[in-house]
Amino acid sequence: MIKLFDTHTHYDDRAYNNDRDELISRLLSENVAGFIAVGCTLERSRKAVALAKKYENVYAAVGIHPQDVNNLPPDYLKTLEKLTESAKVKALGEIGLEYFRTYDKKQQNKIFLEQLELAQSLNLPVIIHSREAFPDTFEILREYTKKGMRFVCHCFSEDGEAAKKLADLGVYISFTGAIAFEKKTERAIDACKNVPDELLLLETDCPYLAPPPFRGKRCDSGMAWYTAQKIAQIKNKTIDETVEMCNNNAARFFEIN
Ligand SMILES: [Zn+2]
Ligand SMILES: [Zn+2]
Repeated sequence: MIKLFDTHTHYDDRAYNNDRDELISRLLSENVAGFIAVGCTLERSRKAVALAKKYENVYAAVGIHPQDVNNLPPDYLKTLEKLTESAKVKALGEIGLEYFRTYDKKQQNKIFLEQLELAQSLNLPVIIHSREAFPDTFEILREYTKKGMRFVCHCFSEDGEAAKKLADLGVYISFTGAIAFEKKTERAIDACKNVPDELLLLETDCPYLAPPPFRGKRCDSGMAWYTAQKIAQIKNKTIDETVEMCNNNAARFFEIN
């Protein structure tokens, strides 16, 4: 039986405080191959690495989310770099620009660029969080892809044209359960169609964004199978073919065997 690799999770969230280990063990024994535990702050990056060390086929990304760029200690880059010394850390992230809820664009851009320089020096791929910030994000990715860096735009919510522009740069694009939300369907389908097969990734961003029929409930990696089902329809493939394709893409992007 094929299992699904979830490229973006937040199992350190308090939503899992009552059953974290039980849930993860069950998922890994069922239809989940593994996942990337993604950091948002220094503390949560540390937790992501700890989780990755605990389980086989679980890996980590470390980074400062654009909503958490204020009040960072001056040596935060050193702390991140130190965390990447674990062989289980496969990417920097999630980092980027978030213009939806906060407007400290200057600070966000500064911290984003500092982390991109770190990722480049460490030769690590980067998980991008970009919301309501596509023009700025695109310009930055255009510069850094020229330098040979690898990116995935996670929780993709832009339109088909944006997907095509990113795909032309070789940027991977990852969809959550939101691709199956009723209101967003048309735009998301159009975006998904414009992503070449070899650049497509699957994620949950759990505990958020549970796909239908679980919408509003706590999400977990097993639910990414419903996202795969939606993408399979769009791409005219079987669900297993879709999962296998996305697993292979994830293995290539994160350099996981
Ligand atoms: Zn995000
Ligand atoms: Zn996330």
